[in-house]
Amino acid sequence: MTGKLSRRGFMQVGAGLAASSLLPAAAAQTPAVHTGAVKPVVIASGNGQQYRNGGKLTCVETAFEQIAAGKDVLDAVIAGVNIVELDPEDTSVGYGGLPNADGVVQLDSCCMHGPLRRAGGVAALEGVRTPSKVARAVMNETDHHLLVGAGAQTFARQLGFEIEDDLNTETSRKLWLEWMRRVDPKHFLDPASRAQAGFRAGQSMVRDGLIDPEHFYGTINCSGINAKADICGVTTTSGLAWKIPGRVGDSPILGAGLYVDNSVGAAGSTGRGEANLYNLTSYLIVENLRRGLHPKDAAMEGLKRIQSNTVEKRLLNSRGLPNFGISFYVLDKQGRHAGVAMYPGGKYAVCDANGGRQVAMDALLEGSPEG
Ligand code: ASP
Repeated sequence: MTGKLSRRGFMQVGAGLAASSLLPAAAAQTPAVHTGAVKPVVIASGNGQQYRNGGKLTCVETAFEQIAAGKDVLDAVIAGVNIVELDPEDTSVGYGGLPNADGVVQLDSCCMHGPLRRAGGVAALEGVRTPSKVARAVMNETDHHLLVGAGAQTFARQLGFEIEDDLNTETSRKLWLEWMRRVDPKHFLDPASRAQAGFRAGQSMVRDGLIDPEHFYGTINCSGINAKADICGVTTTSGLAWKIPGRVGDSPILGAGLYVDNSVGAAGSTGRGEANLYNLTSYLIVENLRRGLHPKDAAMEGLKRIQSNTVEKRLLNSRGLPNFGISFYVLDKQGRHAGVAMYPGGKYAVCDANGGRQVAMDALLEGSPEG
């Protein structure tokens, strides 16, 4: 189930990968200038303080514990999200994530190492429960950034990751079958109207309480900072439930689902990926941090950009406002953080020396996506 990222495994991958000598060693990197002692903190989407997969600690607690013990910040946040990826109870991430329209679980992830100024990602990856680890392997073992689909799976297999035939659980398969039942069969053969009909069928399942709205879309983003003010982040997801096979959202795309600049901060996202991709909002938010904005203000500016660029009628509710949810989790170089959402009601996860907790997010708009 877990990947073995040994040197031997790397050598077996063969000629397609960069020789390790081409890659900069951690020790050779210029350390980022930082503003003085920082209190370590880890932040995540709300599911980062929700799931334990039978263990004692949540995602943010695990990552914080590892950062406090001096571990690499990226390794720490990936160890955190692995808990949620492996937990079948979270149907929006990793094993047991809600599948695509064909009933296949396809996973997206990326990670970014602030001090190394490197990143890796995978998209539409099938059969590996922990895509965040494969994303890290792309970063560490190749000179590429993003591997997708069958190529990403072959890469993972060659590195020793276990590949499973099916990442559905009984729950995710049952929900997919129910979705199939609700899709109007006359739409089924035409991909465009199937997407619309599929979306409506999915929304009807949310309305009927079969899927929590957080899990129709749903993802985990997690970022951390250590006492040296080194910042890293990771985002991992099964993406939009019942998506057209091959659809890739914002989560594995740098600048959208995640962005880290070790000199200013990190931002990551959950929610409607297409809206985020149109605005590369995580990049925008990090640039806002660079201009000196507080994480909350930097993120609100990002949400406003999404709102102003949402003009298509099918994406607007009766009040003329976006009919979808989208959230950002932002951490700056001083360890200040914020969680913001288009609409109220959500919480984000925080862990510092005071322990793990969920904190209410600030919202740009009132009411709900439904209008
Ligand atoms: N942003 C993810 C995507 O669009 C899903 C989510 O976070 O809800 O694939």
